[in-house]
Amino acid sequence: MFFHRALITGGAGFVGSHLCEELLARGTRVVCLDDFCTGRRENLAALRGNPRFELMERDIGAAPVLDLGDREGFDLVAHLASPASPEHYFRLPLATLRAGSAGTEHALELAERTGARFLLASTSEVYGDPLVHPQPEDYRGNVNPVGPRAVYDEAKRYAEAITTAYRARGVTTRIARIFNTYGPRMRADDGRMVPTFIRQALRDEPITVTGDGEQTRSLCHVDDTVRGLLAVASGERADPVNIGNPDELRVRDLAELVRELAGSRSPIEHIAAAPDDPRRRCPDIAVAVAELGWRPEIDARTGLRSTITARAEERPAPVAPGR
Ligand code: NAD
Ligand code: UDP
Repeated sequence: MFFHRALITGGAGFVGSHLCEELLARGTRVVCLDDFCTGRRENLAALRGNPRFELMERDIGAAPVLDLGDREGFDLVAHLASPASPEHYFRLPLATLRAGSAGTEHALELAERTGARFLLASTSEVYGDPLVHPQPEDYRGNVNPVGPRAVYDEAKRYAEAITTAYRARGVTTRIARIFNTYGPRMRADDGRMVPTFIRQALRDEPITVTGDGEQTRSLCHVDDTVRGLLAVASGERADPVNIGNPDELRVRDLAELVRELAGSRSPIEHIAAAPDDPRRRCPDIAVAVAELGWRPEIDARTGLRSTITARAEERPAPVAPGR
């Protein structure tokens, strides 16, 4: 489906900036709305000056988006605005709850008013620490509502609920449950596993694996995730769709893979387990494959290698002999 004009909340973030770029490449006019609480201006560097791109600096949780003037007329509103790394949402608990609650409602109001399709960037965290494996969309999850991750998990669960309520009012809504995504532009300091391991490996510092490292994650390259988000937005399925890579890996093995690909001498160091850390996470993507014809194409080795190359400038310059 071709979108003429899209509003991307959270467009200055990691996933959002790649989504803006892909939409522009497909010919869409893009308005990015972001308050830069975790996003960065340099993520948009390649887009500045593009006549089909516009930036609005604003907190989607604080006030309804009322004054878009002649910028109205969207056919896609994609709501990605939310802190997403545990380190960020621990630091911004109330802002995270507001981005998922009031923020989602404000984005839905705009979609309703302008007749746009609405896409919610939800998360595998709605499954919490899952008791069913791999996780299909009809699994209802195992979330601790008062645990440290609750501000994020419960905000996203609320966001799915209010999106469903607007669907009942006639808005065309879509929900993508995104699993761990990595790639260029993740903040080296955002505390998530992939950028942390890469930063540590490139500096030959200890790679910090939490707990025993036996917990698993399934890593999806951002290019695959963005294609998946646009497949969900364009498709006919209104119920949630898992977007992720089903190649499940142990965190300790990922640490070793990053070390190998970076050509690093880093030791692996086990640190305290993170509280409420999900033990296993792996998407069941049968729905996305059957109904949207989408599946990830970039394997972890290929994607991590190119992400490490993009980050290689972080490696400290070698000290010249004799200095
Ligand atoms: P990110 O932190 O890089 O990007 C989030 C963006 O939203 C940032 O630019 C931030 O400044 C902006 N933002 C946050 N609150 C806002 C507000 N109230 N008003 C306006 N802008 C606001 O994170 P990301 O990894 O790019 O995640 C993007 C979305 O995808 C999030 O909704 C996240 O929950 C979802 N998601 C990401 C992953 C992943 O692995 N990256 C996995 C599951 C879901
Ligand atoms: N993790 C780790 N070392 C780090 C950061 C994270 O071992 O320096 C672990 C973390 O405890 C979790 C996994 O890596 O088991 C993925 O963490 P991330 O924060 O990337 O994502 P999420 O927990 O939201 O899936």
